[in-house]
Amino acid sequence: MLRVLFLFLARQEGFKNFALKFKVFRGTASRFVAGETLDDAINAVRQANQQRISATLDLLGENTLTREDAEGSCRDIIGIIDRIEAEKVDCNVSVKLTQLGLALDTDLVCKNLVRIVEHAKKKSVFVRVDMEDSPYTQRTLDLVTQIHERFSNVGTVLQTCLYRSKQDAIDLLGKRIGIRLVKGAYLEPESIAFRRKKDTDDNFVKLMQMLLGGETYNAIATHDEAMINATKEFARSKSISKDRFEFQMLYGVRRDLQLRLAQEGYRIRVYIPYGLRWNPYFMRRLAERPANVWFIARNFFKD
Ligand SMILES: Cc1cc2nc3c(=O)[nH]c(=O)nc-3n(C[C@H](O)[C@H](O)[C@H](O)COP(=O)(O)OP(=O)(O)OC[C@H]3O[C@@H](n4cnc5c(N)ncnc54)[C@H](O)[C@@H]3O)c2cc1C
Repeated sequence: MLRVLFLFLARQEGFKNFALKFKVFRGTASRFVAGETLDDAINAVRQANQQRISATLDLLGENTLTREDAEGSCRDIIGIIDRIEAEKVDCNVSVKLTQLGLALDTDLVCKNLVRIVEHAKKKSVFVRVDMEDSPYTQRTLDLVTQIHERFSNVGTVLQTCLYRSKQDAIDLLGKRIGIRLVKGAYLEPESIAFRRKKDTDDNFVKLMQMLLGGETYNAIATHDEAMINATKEFARSKSISKDRFEFQMLYGVRRDLQLRLAQEGYRIRVYIPYGLRWNPYFMRRLAERPANVWFIARNFFKD
């Protein structure tokens, strides 16, 4: 029930204004979000890099409602790429297609994504297209596939909660498009997605094995130690070297594990979100872990 509630609140932009009034929300959000400015985000990238952890920057914002906002986001993301180059940090970018106008106009989002990927290519920066909820899955895959035919520095994400992801993995691997594997952060109908965590986890292990067995460089994005151990074990058993794939985790989640993997010589990248529009991202993080919600509930009346 809590997961459903927080995933509902993720869609209510007005909720942020309410939540901002309470110190406990602001405090908990700052654990998952690096700050409101690009300077804040670059500082977080530098700190990660100092610990042999790569980064990917995400300018928060999704479900953009106007063409002007979509074009503004596109310009801002190009600015991030320039800053990554100028600062010489080990970092790439993650983008959401609804931020670039996917819900408004397919030509607009295509134009925006091409501008970003083309610019990033000149600066040797990789662009990861995040996967949003299922109404956008096919269009995201189509667009990434189309753009990948011209620019190899773009990849996307597959969610193991979806039944379709095995076939999508086969297709993307065949086209040599880099994949980030995740469990999936959105509420999806039973007709298309596993309900039980165990089924999503079992599918994660199966798809992880497909990805590591493929020829492309892919990312295993999870904080779940069982999934991480299964990945290490599979790589060891197949003599897949540590530089053939990377782990990824979210800013503010399991820093101990991020450091441990880096110390063990695995490649690890942290997803660093920043910006003003943090409500949907933050609500999804609360939905993932009841303990985060109980923390807020316990401290709510202390504000
Ligand atoms: C780098 C990265 C990029 C992602 N990109 C996408 C995307 O494009 N599309 C998409 O749908 N999803 C994305 N996700 C989110 C993903 O789908 C899961 O919702 C999220 O990673 C939680 O699942 P888990 O694999 O960590 O396993 P879980 O079984 O959910 O969690 C395992 C353990 O991890 C820790 N943990 C997990 N989440 C939290 C949290 N929020 N706060 C504190 N501890 C936590 C807890 O210790 C928990 O017991 C991404 C995740 C990562 C790491």
